[in-house]
Order: sequence, then structure tokens, then C-alpha cells
Amino acid sequence: MHRPSTPDSSRDMLAPVLRDVRAVVFDTDGVITDSAKVHAAAWKAAFDGFLRAHPPEDSDRRRPFDEQDDYLRHVDGKSRLDGAEAFLTARGIEASAKTVRAVAADKERLFTERLREHGVEAFPGTVRLVKALRAAGVPRAAASASRHAGELLSRAEVLDLFDALVDGDEAARLGLAGKPAPDLFLEAVRRLGAPADRAAVVEDALAGVEAGRRGGFALVVGVDRAAGADTRARLLRHGADIVVHDLGELCAGGAPW
Ligand SMILES: [Mg+2]
Repeated sequence: MHRPSTPDSSRDMLAPVLRDVRAVVFDTDGVITDSAKVHAAAWKAAFDGFLRAHPPEDSDRRRPFDEQDDYLRHVDGKSRLDGAEAFLTARGIEASAKTVRAVAADKERLFTERLREHGVEAFPGTVRLVKALRAAGVPRAAASASRHAGELLSRAEVLDLFDALVDGDEAARLGLAGKPAPDLFLEAVRRLGAPADRAAVVEDALAGVEAGRRGGFALVVGVDRAAGADTRARLLRHGADIVVHDLGELCAGGAPW
């Protein structure tokens, strides 16, 4: 991909921390689209159904799936199968591959139902930043472990703001390892024609910021929508260089970045 030459002044719309990056890779769920909560609700219905049908003996392990903590810890940013297995294992359940597949399939069905029913929107702050990057001539990619990423971006009417998309289907086709492996992000930045050490990754998942760090990206931006002190600390520990509440903060004058 050729990079258009743009006057330096177009970069004035960006926070200083972004003025030297040559490309930006955005995670999709929870970063571009307000869909993390749709995923979390679908996971909750699928896991709670399983725990009710197959209650572990230990009462602590029977407690319902927590849409904030369990979501962030075990499933966020991962493929459906990896997420299902991670949560069941955390509850001491030695699930067979067949059980993991069944729970993952349940989640998929519930997610699709909710998506069709409620639709999805892009975060206005993210749209602002993506448009500022476009104006500055900085290529942008969306990356996601989800096979729904293209559909989500299209439903939110932001698909054409990105130069490349690497989604779950692409990851499967190319045999890319899931986060926290950096494969997905490295493929995305390769398609933008920039080296990782001159590019930024934007992520809201712990596994995702870790993937950014492992990939050697110049800047890993963590997004903490809940604005919780604990989430922020965890994102920083897992590899975020900075943590924002909203990506509008990375437009010029948005915050002290
Ligand atoms: Mg995410």
C-alpha cells in the first residue's frame, strides 16, 4: 500500500503520542464497536446455562459468570473455543472437546440473536480518531478474533474507514494463533505496509494488549471503558503503554498524551 504524502499540519489533529506512528491497528469489539457487552451477555447466558445443568460441587465454582470480571479474565479477545475452555477450566471443570464446542455454539447462537435484535454502534470517540488518522494519511486496520468483525463494522457503518480487516475467518484461513500471540496484529500491520515497531495497537482485552507487546509494537494503547482502577492497572501490567477511557482522548487536545 502506498502512503499518501500529507502536510505535517494534518497530524496536528492527533495527540503527540500518535504523531510519529505510520499505521494503527484497532481491535474491534469494545474498541471500535460497542459490542463487548453483547458478547458478555451471550457468554453469561451460555455459561450460566451450563453451570445450572452441570453444577460443580464447590459452591464458589457454581457462582454465575460475571460479565465484567470473568469476561475480562477468561474470554475477552479470545476465539470462542479458547474462551469457553478457559472459563470452564477456571471453574475446575474438565470439559471434553465436545462440551467446549457445545458451550461455544450456544454462545454463538445467543450472540447472533442479540445482534440481530439490538444492532450495534461505533463509539463516537473512536470514529473521531479514525477520521483524524485518515486525514493525516495514517493507514488503519481492524483486527479481531471474531468471525463477526466484518458484519459488526458494516452494521455500525464504519467498515469503509479502514484500509484492511483481519477477522476470525482470515485468522483460520491463514492458521494465525489467537491472542495473546501477536499473529493477528502482525498480519494486519503487514497489510498496511508498516513495520510493527513504527505502528500502534489499540486494545481493550488483557490478552490483546499482551499481543501488542509481544508483537513489538511501538505503542500499545489500552482502552478501559469501565474506567475502573483495577482494569487500568491490569491493562498496564499486561503490556499497555498508556490507558485511555475513550479514543477521543487521542485526538489533539483530548488529554495530556
Ligand atoms: Mg476487544
